Amino acid sequence: MQTPEAQIASPLTTNQASCPTALCQWCACGDEITCQSVPKHFKEVHGIKATNRSEKVECKWNKCFTVVLRNNFVRHIRESHLDHMRNRGHPSVPS
Ligand SMILES: [Zn+2]
Ligand SMILES: [Zn+2]
Ligand SMILES: [Zn+2]
Repeated sequence: MQTPEAQIASPLTTNQASCPTALCQWCACGDEITCQSVPKHFKEVHGIKATNRSEKVECKWNKCFTVVLRNNFVRHIRESHLDHMRNRGHPSVPS
């Protein structure tokens, strides 16, 4: 007897359909990330933790160098580097 779950495991994203995969360009990281995985990825891989929300973080994404508050960091990455517009998502991807 086959389980239906076995067939779902194939392609990419299901619940993240509106946010395409992007390559992380933080310090030449190169990992595949999505808007949804930004908080987890930057916390676990790059050590950007949410402990101090008023701490200033210099963005090391490619040649950005913008200093943002930790509180705004995830939004900065999504909006500036993943082209995710607030409330609208990605204009090139039908929602
Ligand atoms: Zn997105
Ligand atoms: Zn990365
Ligand atoms: Zn940046």
